[in-house]
Amino acid sequence: MRISYERYNSSIRFYLFCEDADKVRSPHLGSQSEFSYSTTDGSTFPESHPDRVALVALLNSLPLAGERIHFGWPVSETFLEASKIISRVQISAEEGKQEPAVGNPSGIPCLSFSGGADSTAALAVMPPETESVFMLRKKSYRRSLYDSDAAIESCRLLSEYGKTVHIIESDFEYLRNPIGFPTDLSVATPSILLFDSRNFSSIALGTILESAYGTSGSNYREYLDSSHYRLWSRMFSAVGIDYSLPVAGVSEVASSIICKTLPEGRFHQSCIRGKWESPCQSCWKCFRKNTLMAALNGREISREVSKMVWRSREVRKHLIENKPIKHEGVLTYSLERAKGGGEAFDKLRKLVRVGKINTGWMERWYSHSESLIPESYRRFTTDLLKSTIGVMDEHDRIELENWSNHNDTKRELLLSDFTDLVGG
Ligand SMILES: [Zn+2]
Repeated sequence: MRISYERYNSSIRFYLFCEDADKVRSPHLGSQSEFSYSTTDGSTFPESHPDRVALVALLNSLPLAGERIHFGWPVSETFLEASKIISRVQISAEEGKQEPAVGNPSGIPCLSFSGGADSTAALAVMPPETESVFMLRKKSYRRSLYDSDAAIESCRLLSEYGKTVHIIESDFEYLRNPIGFPTDLSVATPSILLFDSRNFSSIALGTILESAYGTSGSNYREYLDSSHYRLWSRMFSAVGIDYSLPVAGVSEVASSIICKTLPEGRFHQSCIRGKWESPCQSCWKCFRKNTLMAALNGREISREVSKMVWRSREVRKHLIENKPIKHEGVLTYSLERAKGGGEAFDKLRKLVRVGKINTGWMERWYSHSESLIPESYRRFTTDLLKSTIGVMDEHDRIELENWSNHNDTKRELLLSDFTDLVGG
């Protein structure tokens, strides 16, 4: 695959020229594919270091490329050397001397902002001068459920509150079939493109504990040993960007507590289908959010929420087909504390091990994650995390690091008990 780009006025457009091996790996791609980024206020799209532009291209093309990626512009030796960690695809670039991009630790922290609870919690514990960059997904008839209304409103309210928020529109999701982010860090590409012009020091993401340390699934993992961390922290560092995960030690439970407690927290909405302050009340995110808020506010499961397991096919699908349920631990926490909901919820409580496992640790901060926060604002963020949610003690850490949740015959029986009641 060869990649080139051009910048004009308010946009930067990338072109992917596919070779035979690319077409084998990604048959949906034609000989030429494109994706672009545009400012939403009509301002000129800023210049960025060629290595950073290459990282943007890499984040969107790596999973699609068959054998090689060739950048149609010179990049530094530092970048090429770092990219040798990628063994499946060979990386090369046009001949020409290019100095490496240098870091800027005294610059402004940046957050790749989504408008959801986790990224708002990240913003709330980052220094006040942090600038947020929101990636506005280009609309299309091919994806009808997504609605950017709530996220845009959240950006507007944050600006009104005094925060700097940039909105960059992109269509890179259409490179993939089915539509979606080519890599999970593609969402940070608009921040990378603004890095030079905004004098950023680092780019943070709202990745929470369940995603970083694997506890949304079957087992705890050491994130620092994961291939994800080894690859991308190395590539970010090669282009002089500190990769930051300020809430990697914060579970979904604790990120909601942060949003309830700190002032920026009120500017979020988890549901990406409904309008601002009017969530759809039938998606999986709404179900998790509703049950968790009932627990945190000491309420019972409302009739409206209990009806969701009957009314929403999507909610039933998540509860029945995922083994374990994604983010099952958060549900265990919620259903242990929020009473009521009727027979279906009692069966669900048994399925998700309410009363069988400890969940109190999910409220507190896992301090082992502090190395994922850049030194320039580590102290600020860790102090705020400690004072807002407290730190996990030895007992909490053992619970977390021994997290294990597997399907077995006992669980299958509890599941069929639940399925018999609510239907498949
Ligand atoms: Zn929803």
